[in-house]
Amino acid sequence: MLDKGLVQIYTGDGKGKTTAAFGLALRAAGQGNKVLIYQFLKPPGLDIGERFALQLGAVRIRVEAFDVPWDMSESFEDEQALARVRLAIKETLDKIAKTGEKRFYDVLILDEIVFCHSKGLVELEDIKRIIDKKDTAVEIILTGRGATAELIALADLVTEMKNIKHPFEKGQPARRGIEF
Ligand code: ATP
Ligand code: MG
Repeated sequence: MLDKGLVQIYTGDGKGKTTAAFGLALRAAGQGNKVLIYQFLKPPGLDIGERFALQLGAVRIRVEAFDVPWDMSESFEDEQALARVRLAIKETLDKIAKTGEKRFYDVLILDEIVFCHSKGLVELEDIKRIIDKKDTAVEIILTGRGATAELIALADLVTEMKNIKHPFEKGQPARRGIEF
């Protein structure tokens, strides 16, 4: 549906990256585009409001995630967990590259892939391949904290969510429906 698809990054330490990507998905779908959202490091069992909303099926946006256990507070210290997730990310990106090449979707959203790259869970090459191979009409959105200079160089649009204040800093726990 797009004449020319670009590459966008939503990064930074403030709130709003994933929710901005889902907002864009809604807009794109409303204008007739096929949208795939792939959520990295968010296994199927997680309590995630935006995913539940799409699974209700009222809006035709596909949301997927690989079924590899991941715990943000423990898995970075666990070599086996790291090896499993690295492999899953690589295999997933290979599949997404084919999806982009064949234009099965107009918009591809890779939620948290920027964070994965900043933490060394994925090589730049594996992300770059998706961008290089994609059909020219496919738009790509990459989200997550810590976009590297190399990743930023590959994008056409980069927005940084800058944290000014977050209730977390005053001890407010994450709220269902707002933070997840
Ligand atoms: P959201 O999903 O709300 O759009 P995000 O994608 O920008 O947030 P992530 O970096 O993915 O944020 O962070 C994951 C979780 O941390 C989310 O629940 C998010 O609301 C919360 N969060 C975002 N910014 C901050 C912050 N500055 N301090 C603490 N928690 C934050
Ligand atoms: Mg996020």
